[in-house]
Amino acid sequence: NERESLYLVSEHAQKYFEETLWESEPGKAIGLTYFKERGFTDETIKKFGLGYSLDEWEAFTNSAIEQGYQLEFLEKTGLTIVKEQASGESKKFDRFKGRVMFPIHSMSGRVLGFGGRILTNDKKAAKYLNSPESDIYHKSKVLYGIYYAKQSIAKEDNCYLVEGYTDVIQMYQKGVHNVVSSSGTALTPEQIRLINRLTKNITVLFDGDAAGLRASLRGIDLILEQGMNVKVCTFPEGEDPDSFAKNNTYEDMVLYLEENAKDFIQFKTSLLVQEAANDPIRRADTVRDIVNSISKIPDQIKREIYIQECAKLMSISEEVLYNTLAQITKKDI
Ligand code: ATP
Ligand code: MN
Ligand code: MN
Ligand code: MN
Repeated sequence: NERESLYLVSEHAQKYFEETLWESEPGKAIGLTYFKERGFTDETIKKFGLGYSLDEWEAFTNSAIEQGYQLEFLEKTGLTIVKEQASGESKKFDRFKGRVMFPIHSMSGRVLGFGGRILTNDKKAAKYLNSPESDIYHKSKVLYGIYYAKQSIAKEDNCYLVEGYTDVIQMYQKGVHNVVSSSGTALTPEQIRLINRLTKNITVLFDGDAAGLRASLRGIDLILEQGMNVKVCTFPEGEDPDSFAKNNTYEDMVLYLEENAKDFIQFKTSLLVQEAANDPIRRADTVRDIVNSISKIPDQIKREIYIQECAKLMSISEEVLYNTLAQITKKDI
């Protein structure tokens, strides 16, 4: 069947990129050197099936076709791009060229697609390029690293959610295995459901660049809605979990996470209260925003506890918060 053909093409591509990394001259000189500079060990590079795509127009496509893979499926996985020329001829070329390759696996370990990173600091080119949506790859339904993390998530009864591929890999290599990434896309209910099957506890780790923080807070309400407990942890300016894990020991990493992971509602409340400072209008918006988050929590006892805590943090009466909560809940129904 067709989906199976797409899986087979993707699995072939994973092996091809991996072999290119380890066996070809550019793979070794450019790709492998890059991964080593990032601090990845041979074992880690193999574990995650990392690879390299040659900086050529149709190296992968030609090799795959030669080995009997059909152009139709190469195109449907997005690995090959087919372009009609003005002459009527069609030209085919590789989507990924000159990039280090991160295969994206399903929960059961099948290859669904790829992320590819450029190696230059060219600000004009997209740093990461991903496989397009296909019958097997739906980016809103996958979490990078879930196949490697699932056992540890269940065992530790917690899941770390990070921003990028390299955060997952570097933390994993340091010994923190219960880590996955939404890979730059806004978190979706389907992604949260994948984690929810394994644990009720999520700790969201934010890059220390502040840019994404404010925007991401809203997405976290989706986690509350699924009845999960959410903590958040930020990293120092300019650091992300990748750089932090690279530059610290396992013990330092665990200690940092333990000391800096804060309950999400408390974190958001403190942050917004701080930002609103003495501006009454902004303070009013803050109250509504926080109560809105609390309203997403299905458990009534938890809601009540948060109302009490946030009343203190915001210096506002519990009664007002309960009234606001009642209004919001009414509007939702
Ligand atoms: P690196 O350490 O390799 O520079 P990163 O993972 O720290 O990368 P961020 O800029 O923090 O990169 O972005 C987080 C994630 O967002 C990336 O891992 C990637 O999945 C996604 N992403 C970043 N830039 C792009 C882009 N230009 N196009 C598509 N996805 C992107
Ligand atoms: Mn970032
Ligand atoms: Mn980052
Ligand atoms: Mn990074």
